[in-house]
Amino acid sequence: MRTPRDEATGLATYAGLLHECADALAATAVSGAAAQPALLLVDLEGITEAATTDGFTAGDELLRLMAGRVTREVGSLGLVARMSDHQLAVLFADLSAPAVALDLAYRIVTSVSSPAVLDSQRRVVLSTSCGIVTRETLPARTTATELVRAADLAVREARRTGRNRIEVCTRELVASADETLAIGKDLRQALQEQGLDVCYQPLVDLTHGSVLGFEALVRWSHPVHGHVSPARFVPVAEEFGLISELGRMVLSTASAQLQQWSVSFGVPLTAHVNVSGQDLANEGFIAMVQKCLAESGLPATQLVLEVTETTVEPDLDTARARFEALHDLGVRVALDDFGTGRSALSYLQSLSVDILKVDRSYLESIDDQQADAAHTERRADDLLRGVVALGQALGLEVYGEGIEDEAQRERLLASGCDIGQGYLFARPLPPAEAVSLLHEQRPAPSPVSALGSRILAADAAQSA
Ligand code: C2E
Ligand code: MG
Ligand code: MG
Repeated sequence: MRTPRDEATGLATYAGLLHECADALAATAVSGAAAQPALLLVDLEGITEAATTDGFTAGDELLRLMAGRVTREVGSLGLVARMSDHQLAVLFADLSAPAVALDLAYRIVTSVSSPAVLDSQRRVVLSTSCGIVTRETLPARTTATELVRAADLAVREARRTGRNRIEVCTRELVASADETLAIGKDLRQALQEQGLDVCYQPLVDLTHGSVLGFEALVRWSHPVHGHVSPARFVPVAEEFGLISELGRMVLSTASAQLQQWSVSFGVPLTAHVNVSGQDLANEGFIAMVQKCLAESGLPATQLVLEVTETTVEPDLDTARARFEALHDLGVRVALDDFGTGRSALSYLQSLSVDILKVDRSYLESIDDQQADAAHTERRADDLLRGVVALGQALGLEVYGEGIEDEAQRERLLASGCDIGQGYLFARPLPPAEAVSLLHEQRPAPSPVSALGSRILAADAAQSA
């Protein structure tokens, strides 16, 4: 059968490519290792933007131009197909050396990223990400769609790591994607069956040890794998479109829980809840926060939403708008893990966050055996003092996190930071253990903690 062609570009269609892949894989099964099909995916980045600025036809024009360039580079080495409006594929039915595909990918990157001139005389420079998979990476009886999926994993990896990059799909990449897929499926089920829990780690007044609030941390006990870290499954929740549901579950649970404890212990405890970037960008995010507050009865001034630099970095304008809307409600925002990203001062100023949580790496202990231990320790102290002073100079509250020992608590206090959390005080606790901790604190701590009095003052101001 003749391979079906795309009218606009003259390239093979996706259906045609799948057919050719299946044929190439079948030929491998017959001839053994001698024939090695390989698939190269070429992402053309910038076409969508060009279509937005220069009109719909500019996108088509660019695709045709790039299809021509790629076809010329490939020559008789393989079959070029159109995957979408911004992705091409090259199938090498029988590749004797994988290096050929790599070499060709380099030539394609160079060719695609050289300037193109549109009919309108506008000059456009595209960039590209390439992903390659060779047959030998995949198990026996691999199907055409599995071959495409593996190339797609490589192209995603290339996109994730920068522009004009080429990635080769490895067995590890496929295994990790399979694992992610399995986690995503199980996570969806766990969310449906209310199989996720929330633990609470106290935020304490570093001088008196009194509990000022709790950070809500999601927990998942997988029926087979046991405890799965949120650092692992939160990104999977984002990838699988489950993050809104997860975020809503944690926020509504934590708000209700903290309101209940605040009432029964007669102290205005603060709920700290982590927010993923994708959730924050969601149009309905503010309405969701409002709903959780209304349903739980938790005063907005007792809610702090924690974001990280990497959360806000991709879309600073949206983050800024959301923070303003949160401030209008009375909700505060904390910048979590400060110091692990780029720590740009401009973020702090332009985003108007309220709290800076200094990453625990600033507290890491210095090895006494190290040759210049005293000097290194002085420098680490200076750095910590500098970060705390910087936050305070910008009018922010500065909290410490990951406080594991007495020396770290003292270093934070000496640097001017008087609120924090860490294993020294308590690990993230199931609700019943958090209640026991609160009972140990009774009667209400005196003097009223700095944060407690600020909350009361803010409450009074809001109701005035
Ligand atoms: P995070 O928000 O910075 O949370 C603090 C992490 O440090 C928690 O890890 C906590 O268990 C751990 N930790 C607390 N004290 C200490 C200490 O003294 N030493 C050390 N080494 N670690 C300490 P966890 O629970 O594994 O959470 C990891 C990250 O996952 C969180 O970092 C947060 O970014 C994310 N995460 C957790 N729960 C949620 C959630 O409900 N929603 C979202 N979007 N992200 C969450
Ligand atoms: Mg946090
Ligand atoms: Mg943190």
